[in-house]
Amino acid sequence: MTSPNIAIVGAGIGGLACARTLQQHGRSVTVFEREASPRSRWQGGMLDLHVDTGQAALRAANLFEEFSAVARPEGQEMRGLDPYTGALIHHELPVEGAGNAPEIDRGQLRDLFLDALAPDTIRWGHPVTSADALTEDFDLVIGADGTWSRIRPALSTATPIYTGDLLVETFLDADRHPEVALMVGNGTLAAKSGRLMLSAQRNSRGHIRVYAGLPAPADSRVDLLEVFEGWHDGLLDLIRQADGDFVNRPLYVLPVGHRWDHVPGVTLLGDAAHLMPPYGIGANLAMLDGTDLATAIISHDDLDAAVRSYENLMLPRARAAAEACAELTATLVADTVVDVESARHHLNDRIQRA
Ligand SMILES: Cc1cc2nc3c(=O)[nH]c(=O)nc-3n(C[C@H](O)[C@H](O)[C@H](O)COP(=O)(O)OP(=O)(O)OC[C@H]3O[C@@H](n4cnc5c(N)ncnc54)[C@H](O)[C@@H]3O)c2cc1C
Repeated sequence: MTSPNIAIVGAGIGGLACARTLQQHGRSVTVFEREASPRSRWQGGMLDLHVDTGQAALRAANLFEEFSAVARPEGQEMRGLDPYTGALIHHELPVEGAGNAPEIDRGQLRDLFLDALAPDTIRWGHPVTSADALTEDFDLVIGADGTWSRIRPALSTATPIYTGDLLVETFLDADRHPEVALMVGNGTLAAKSGRLMLSAQRNSRGHIRVYAGLPAPADSRVDLLEVFEGWHDGLLDLIRQADGDFVNRPLYVLPVGHRWDHVPGVTLLGDAAHLMPPYGIGANLAMLDGTDLATAIISHDDLDAAVRSYENLMLPRARAAAEACAELTATLVADTVVDVESARHHLNDRIQRA
């Protein structure tokens, strides 16, 4: 069989993992990305990459050493604070040498893949409007285009559902706010009460990314100090001393167990296939999906059989992860749990074992 012509829509982490593994094995692949260039948008905060998902994808892509050179194992530190007293109620330091889930800036991770791809693999500034736009020229169209996928409608009528929870994001510069930096430590700090949550995450280059979580309409302008009234002063400083603007990140999910009947020539990976709450697994799963799809294509002579085998592997895995996320959401909403980081950690352990 001649090598199939493959289009990937979306140069996010999942699409790039797929492209890199395909290209390593001599397959022809073109990535269409709506952003004008690799630097046209800030890529977001840190990601912790887990052994059996994100790290496995990096190994398959032969980029693990490059990852280890820039990863921050110390970023795994987790602090859970009582929202009202500011007392440390949970503290986890990374185990020396274990490197279970080192953190990396999302932009640095994307650069690892971009640098490894052949020049001209990515068509920047190419928003794709539907799968139909590509099916004539390509044997397979892979939708790796995230939450609002334009490829998904070729397979399913599902659309993302607003969870009712809004994240408001801002940042602080650690050098300008040493006391806040001391409270946050090297990794992630979180405090919660019911559906209210404040968290701060140490990124590279002295950046501290802050998220406030609350139930609110997706487009609301919220007075955070009013919403978090009564919380400990140190935690409120995350809001009061912010150096950045406050940006709304409404949380959407696809229905748990989202699936589709196989359609030759089109498939999905990552958030386009299984958008979940941000409990630290979405990027890991997107990378693993990309690797699994590429591996299936490489190891089957028949392209359609390859895609079927990938979907048979990915869809049940995504369902199990989405179920675990839904359970965690229910647990986190209960007032008794204030230790959001250890709950998240537990979820990741469970998904690794699935
Ligand atoms: C606040 C927050 C924190 C998170 N933290 C973590 C974490 O710590 N760990 C973790 O594992 N996950 C985390 N996630 C989840 C993670 O961000 C996603 O699951 C992951 O980015 C999905 O990767 P993807 O490649 O599927 O999609 P995306 O990263 O969304 O990439 C999609 C790409 O497709 C492009 N695109 C979109 N539409 C089109 C189109 N029509 N034509 C062409 N290109 C298009 C986009 O520009 C983008 O480059 C977090 C999510 C949020 C919201």
